[in-house]
Amino acid sequence: MDDQGLFTMFGAALGLASPWQVTSVHFDDVLGKLEIGLDFPRGSRFACPMEGCSESACPVHDTAEKRWRHLDFFEHQAFLIARVPRVSCGEHGIHLVAVPWARPGSGFTLLMEVAMLTFAKQMPIAPLAAMAREHDTRIWRVIEHHVNVTRAGLDFSGVTKVGCDETSARRGQDYVSLFMDLETRRVMFATPGKDAETVKAFAEDLTAHGGAPKTQVEEVCCDMSPAFISGITKYLAEQPEEAEAQVTDTTAEAVEVTTSAAVATADPADPVTSEGDETEVELHCPQIIFDRYHVVAKANEAVDHVRRAESKTRPELKRSRYVWLKNEANLTVKQREKLAWLTRPSMQLKTTRAARWRDDFNEFYNLTDPEEAEAYLKRWCYGAKRSRLEPIKEFVATVEAHWDGIIAWQQSRLSNGLLEGTNSLVQAAKRRARGYRSKAKMITIIYLIAGKLPLPQIHTI
Ligand SMILES: [Zn+2]
Repeated sequence: MDDQGLFTMFGAALGLASPWQVTSVHFDDVLGKLEIGLDFPRGSRFACPMEGCSESACPVHDTAEKRWRHLDFFEHQAFLIARVPRVSCGEHGIHLVAVPWARPGSGFTLLMEVAMLTFAKQMPIAPLAAMAREHDTRIWRVIEHHVNVTRAGLDFSGVTKVGCDETSARRGQDYVSLFMDLETRRVMFATPGKDAETVKAFAEDLTAHGGAPKTQVEEVCCDMSPAFISGITKYLAEQPEEAEAQVTDTTAEAVEVTTSAAVATADPADPVTSEGDETEVELHCPQIIFDRYHVVAKANEAVDHVRRAESKTRPELKRSRYVWLKNEANLTVKQREKLAWLTRPSMQLKTTRAARWRDDFNEFYNLTDPEEAEAYLKRWCYGAKRSRLEPIKEFVATVEAHWDGIIAWQQSRLSNGLLEGTNSLVQAAKRRARGYRSKAKMITIIYLIAGKLPLPQIHTI
C-alpha cells in the first residue's frame, strides 16, 4: 500500500470528513507509539466556534499544533496530531475552531473519552489509569467533566415520585444522601450528610434542573428519620408564611402595610391570599411514604432488643440474632433447626412472642385491600400495646407516630427497593476502589454509575 492508500484507510477508520484528511502516519517502534497527522488543504474555510454564530466559512487566520490521545492501536498508544486553525469571524474575531474528534481543551479524543467512561462504570479509576497508562488525575478530569456537563443538561421538571436514603461514605458515621427518581430509576442528586439540609440542597438542585420543588413532588419514599421528614415538609412543600410573604411582596414599597391591606390589594382570585377568607387554601405537600423495608427493620430491632435482654437469663439465645431476623426462607438448615428448637412452646421465650408480633406486623404488607389493611394494623396496634414487651410497645408508638406514612404505602406501593439496589452498586464500587479520596469523588462515581447520564455524542466527522 502506498502512503496515500494508507492515509485514506486511516482517514476512513477515523471517520474524517472534509476538509480534514490524514497527511502522515508515523509508527515509532522503539516507543511503541502511533502518530497520525491530520491537516486540511490550503484555502479551507471553517465554521465560527462561537455559540449561535451562523458564519460557516471563516478564513483561517493561523494554526496551532494540538495532540490528542486516541484509542490504542493494537497494544500501542495512538495519538492524533493536527494543525488546528484559528479563524477570523467578522462578528466574533479570532477563535480556535472546534474539531469534531475532541471536545475543546481535552487531551483525549471523544472516542477515547467514551471508552474511559465505559470502563469507569465497571472498574475503579486506579486500575483503569494503569491500564490506559495515564495518570489518574487526567481520567478523573474526564469523568468529572462528563458528569458535570451531562447532569447540567438534565430536566427534572416532570419528576413526581422521589425516593431518598443515605449510603455510607466511609467507615463510621459518614454519609452521602441519595435522591432518586423512582420512575426513571435514576439518581437525581447525591450530597454529603443525612440531615434536613440535604433535602434543602436537593430542592435547590431540582430548581437548577427546571423543577419546582415546592409544588411538583407528589410522593416521597424515605425512612422514618426526623431529618428527612422535616426536610421534606420544609423544602418540598409550600409554606404558609411564604404564601403571606408573596402577598406582601406585591406591595413592597409600602413597608408598613398591614396584612389586611395587603390582602385587599392582591388579586382576590389568587388562592394564596385567603387569610381571613372563608375558604381554606390547601398548600401543596408531598405524601410521605415510609419505605416498608425500613419500617420492618425497626420491628426487627424491637425483636432483637427483647432477645438481648432475655439472653442474660436464657443463654440459649446467645448468638441467635440472625436466626430471628432473617427471612425464614433464607435460613440455613442448621439455623432453621435452631429456630424450631427455640420457638417450641415449652421454651416460653419472650423473644418468640416478640417475633410473632413482628411477623403479624409484616402481614400488613401482604394485605391487598388498603381499607382492610388499615383496620388490620389498628387491631395489631391494640393487641401489641398489651404485649408486655417493652420494645414491641415502643415500636407500636413509632408506628402510631408515623401512621399516615405507613398506611400510605398501601395506596402507592412505592418502595425504596430500587434505592437499595443502587446503594449496593455504590457500595460495591466503593469496596472495589477501596474507598474514595473525597466525598465529591464518591458522588461523581454515583452519578456515573446510577445517574443514567447520556454518553457524549460521537460525531461522524
Ligand atoms: Zn462568529
